[in-house]
Amino acid sequence: MERTLAIIKPDGVARGIIGEVIQRLESNKLKITAMKMVKMNQEQAKGFYAVHEERPFFDSLTYFMSSGPIVVMVLEGENAIAKYREIMGATDYRQADEGTIRKDFATDIEKNVVHGSDSPETAVIEIAYFFNRFELIH
Ligand code: GDP
Repeated sequence: MERTLAIIKPDGVARGIIGEVIQRLESNKLKITAMKMVKMNQEQAKGFYAVHEERPFFDSLTYFMSSGPIVVMVLEGENAIAKYREIMGATDYRQADEGTIRKDFATDIEKNVVHGSDSPETAVIEIAYFFNRFELIH
């Protein structure tokens, strides 16, 4: 069993597609073992995306990620990291496969509805960024 951090970004929450995203996770056997809605300030978003600090889109991305509430979840399942990334689709929705969340709902390379950890190491760090051990269901 593997764990990954999933986020429904401010655009997804604002457009009312939380249920649609969760439906796709659950029907693909990704179990939600922790979940909450939070609103980050830009400093907190910068901390979360610290690996992208040098990228030209860092300010814009962290501004966007702190522009409204987000839903953060821990997903658990076999190959959860790769499986969820497949369900999300490519970062740029124009290159995402048919039937993926980003292909179906993203409007922009930045406003791409969802986030998912990209490795087991990242997943551990990202989960700990949002959840303490009492909030993680075993
Ligand atoms: P992910 O793992 O698929 O989310 O992609 P990355 O880790 O490469 O990038 C993190 C996030 O930064 C993406 O999900 C987008 O929201 C945003 N992003 C990535 N590339 C670009 C870009 O070229 N321009 C802008 N404005 N945002 C980007």
